[in-house]
Amino acid sequence: CGIVGYVGGQSALDVVLAGLKRLEYRGYDSAGVAVLADGGLAAAKKAGKLANLEKELADRPLPTGSTGIGHTRWATHGGPTDANAHPHLDNAGRVSVVHNGIIENFAGLRAELTDRGHELASETDTEVVAHLLAEAYSSCGELAEAMRQVCRRLEGAFTLVAVHADEPDVVVGARRNSPLVVGVGDGEAFLASDVAAFIAHTREAIELGQDQVVELRREAVTVTDFDGVPAQVREYHVDWDASA
Ligand code: GLU
Repeated sequence: CGIVGYVGGQSALDVVLAGLKRLEYRGYDSAGVAVLADGGLAAAKKAGKLANLEKELADRPLPTGSTGIGHTRWATHGGPTDANAHPHLDNAGRVSVVHNGIIENFAGLRAELTDRGHELASETDTEVVAHLLAEAYSSCGELAEAMRQVCRRLEGAFTLVAVHADEPDVVVGARRNSPLVVGVGDGEAFLASDVAAFIAHTREAIELGQDQVVELRREAVTVTDFDGVPAQVREYHVDWDASA
């Protein structure tokens, strides 16, 4: 339902949680976050309100890192449980993904992954993406390219945002028939399903186009189509008053 990604000099967890709060108006049934820190990936997710997630984070704090992603979920496949909440991880716990929308062909992909020895921990359509990204990453060694390869296999409407522990300064996003906006800051960058999530930090935005993948770094935003062809981006200034 709501998605936030961040890379920059601030605590990613703080930025992502604040962003998720700005997206609360959309409604949701669960929430979760993942942060890259100390060469690894740490995640927390909880059914219910953001307050439940915040309590979980208070009880079991995540390490501080400057790259992270977060999600508020409106369940379509699998009930609103902790296990079905996003982010979803691969079996090695190195890649993490959040998703809005529906992966129509997830059942076939899930069967294929199970045959190859993957163990899926949720009932969501989303989780297959984490496992497919891990496989693609192990052969191509680049998260943005792995995302392009995986997106070419997906059917349906989706916004996807992912991180990989081997690329601690990168957040990758993709979209098909579902919104995703980039916020361009000074030495930091944001991804969100709605500019409201990052308006407190920057008003310079880039709307991702249909069937595009974006790679975010602190100082660079690179957009391509699903085949890797570089895309023209048009930065615009968000001038509406988002303080309401
Ligand atoms: N289809 C996904 C799920 O049920 C994502 C739902 C959403 O857009 O929040 O987990």
